[in-house]
Amino acid sequence: MRENAGTKSANNTACLTLSNITIRLGGRMLIALTAGIAPGEVLTIMGPSGSGKSSLLAFVGGFLDPAFDAGGRVLIGTRDLTEIAANQRHAGILFQDPLLFPHLSVGGNIVFAIPAAVKGRSARRRLAEAALDEVGLGGFYDRDPDTLSGGQKARVALQRVLVSHPRFLLLDEPFSKLDAALREQTRELVFSKARSAGLPTILVTHDSADAEAAGGRVIEIGMEEQG
Ligand code: ADP
Ligand code: MG
Repeated sequence: MRENAGTKSANNTACLTLSNITIRLGGRMLIALTAGIAPGEVLTIMGPSGSGKSSLLAFVGGFLDPAFDAGGRVLIGTRDLTEIAANQRHAGILFQDPLLFPHLSVGGNIVFAIPAAVKGRSARRRLAEAALDEVGLGGFYDRDPDTLSGGQKARVALQRVLVSHPRFLLLDEPFSKLDAALREQTRELVFSKARSAGLPTILVTHDSADAEAAGGRVIEIGMEEQG
């Protein structure tokens, strides 16, 4: 396996700042949060189902449904992202499901995410092959994503996010569908990649073992009011 071939963002030193974030739904306050997340740091937001975790990530990513009433600012470094469209924020997002494109090969899924600034079909393919190699999937380029195990799909999804050179990572319970042993391995991989790429990372989860594995600050939400 090669180390960080094409997936390590160079010199990422920008903090992600969540300033006075509030998210309300039908007059009920779901989220009230201020936090700074340093490069390579993982902040965990832990709360039960329905507490507003995915909504928080949607707000930070710029795609919160207008049914919510949200306020506050999101900054990367000194740049205010709050009014910027989702596709201009350069968030790397992993969900519960790996959401690989079924009509593309495994390698095609990675190539799709490589910035357009990387020119040339063969250069793009080499980067994708290196990214696969890095996570033990050398030789998987031409495979149909449907033929991969859950853990393999999760690793492809991770590398697809990292080759896009995001400025920060948003993790929405990405380990919750993996069985115990695989969950631990995948967690280790995701957190070590986030750290080595210097990415400020927000993990949301209902699982205290995820929070512990993340090894950073944990903020609990929605503990009262939940039935
Ligand atoms: P979590 O991720 O912690 O399970 P969510 O952020 O998905 O919680 O949801 C928070 C609350 O908002 C829940 O009560 C949910 O039913 C509601 N909700 C989620 N999405 C929408 C939407 N698009 N419109 C209205 N309500 C929503
Ligand atoms: Mg959710």
